Amino acid sequence: MASIAEFEQACENGASIQEELLGGILRKTHYLQKFGSPQSLAAYKSQVPIVSYEDVAGVIEKIACGEEDFPELGSGRVLGLYYCGHQSHTKAGIWVGALTTYLIKTYRGPFNKFTTPYEMIISGSNWRELTYCHLLCALIQRDAVEQIDASFAYIICGALKILQSDWQDICNDIRTGSLSSGKVTHPKLQEAFANFLVNKENIAGTADAIAKICSRESWSGILSLLFPGAKLVSAVVTGAMAHFVPELRDYAGGKLPISGKDYYSSEGVLGINTNPASPLEDVVFTILPHIMYYEFLPLGANNPAGEILAPHEVVVGQEYEIVITTFAGLYRYRVGDVVKVSSFFHGVPQLAFSYRKNAVLSVQNEMVDEQELQNVVMEVSKDAGIEVANFTAYGNSTAVPAHYVIFWELKRREGINRELLERCCSSIDRSFNPGYTGKRLDEVIDSLELVIVKEGTFERLMEEAVRNGTSPAQYKTPRCVTSPRMLEVLESGRVQSYKSGEMPRSVFESWEPSFPQG
Ligand code: AMP
Repeated sequence: MASIAEFEQACENGASIQEELLGGILRKTHYLQKFGSPQSLAAYKSQVPIVSYEDVAGVIEKIACGEEDFPELGSGRVLGLYYCGHQSHTKAGIWVGALTTYLIKTYRGPFNKFTTPYEMIISGSNWRELTYCHLLCALIQRDAVEQIDASFAYIICGALKILQSDWQDICNDIRTGSLSSGKVTHPKLQEAFANFLVNKENIAGTADAIAKICSRESWSGILSLLFPGAKLVSAVVTGAMAHFVPELRDYAGGKLPISGKDYYSSEGVLGINTNPASPLEDVVFTILPHIMYYEFLPLGANNPAGEILAPHEVVVGQEYEIVITTFAGLYRYRVGDVVKVSSFFHGVPQLAFSYRKNAVLSVQNEMVDEQELQNVVMEVSKDAGIEVANFTAYGNSTAVPAHYVIFWELKRREGINRELLERCCSSIDRSFNPGYTGKRLDEVIDSLELVIVKEGTFERLMEEAVRNGTSPAQYKTPRCVTSPRMLEVLESGRVQSYKSGEMPRSVFESWEPSFPQG
């Protein structure tokens, strides 16, 4: 126990001793990561809210129940839904292709944990056939799978849709130990599958268990049923992928945690998620100051060069466009992404991904960006109780008057009638910013059209992009389509369409964002 003299001395220097002690606590804790891991008294006071018991009751309850916060991964296998895209060379022999393709071809090591043989992943086959093989190989080893991983959330949702349509073929192939379903025609995949089956004994029985699971009416929690040892699902869940989070959560069920992956682009690693256990809506990315040189352009800056900020100068809560300088030879390059500074981790900002800047709808000089479009679609469909499997938009500026077309593929049709969809169409039309609604009111922009497309249309959209050289692992549904070919694919899936009603003046006058921006 401290002596009275020590106690008295501590009281005399109370303020500095308190600050020193706080520093010691802050250095030791991981809990404050979600508040940007403050390390100084000033940062602590500005970043960490004062809480009462009610605020921490949930965490205390979890600790009391012995619940693990985040799973430790062991030596199990990974169902890794990865694909090699097309590669080409420039005239000078420089290799051109997607980042994922480069990584897969260059680093074999991480793929040894995958349930799919490496030879299959690099076979250069079509994505549908490879997805079938990914599922087939993983299901044969279902008890060993501890992680389900893909670069983007929609890839996992897309693979499960293929399983929904093809599970009987997959089960038959497992039963017969061959690719007799005819679903896989690529010779390299066939050869790799034959090699994969060597030494795999007694697999036929697995088929019955899988068939029983897949024939369930509800696919909620299906991932844990198919892969009982799975501990984690990981994929990018932010930005355009936020749309797939409810579907992914449903497949994962309540127990299997989902972790949001890092913020990568072909230009470089833009940030990492230092808190993989963070709720998906709160995922933020910490920049990597030793990897590239970052600058931040305030949104709407008139004089980019003058107003650009260094990482330590950005302000929490503000949105910026990322500008990078890399060893690979990009100098003050605008990546095209808008991010919002959520906090600081030691001296560097942590960024929430807001939206991709260039994806905008504009037919009469108004502007609806990707984030607004996504918010509107998510909000309107949620209010109507409709599950939209995927969506995109087209600004038809050649029509007179010009107008927006929104394409929806629905997850299920039951209980959705004409009246409900008509209402959704008008709600979408009325939810955009006043730059749009004002022009609607003036009839410079015509009624909005909501087109329902048949199941599989967005899959064909992806196939089209893949045919044109996009890697399946890199493809993200474009939220605004501009290419005539993409439009043709969407139009070929058209089932029904609806036109929005008249734009009431009150909508224009009383507009305010009804959902958080960012
Ligand atoms: P690419 O260059 O085709 O690989 O695509 C990179 C782009 O994908 C980025 O600039 C972002 O727009 C988007 N992206 C990548 N990772 C994430 C992430 N974790 N969250 C949101 N968007 C992301």
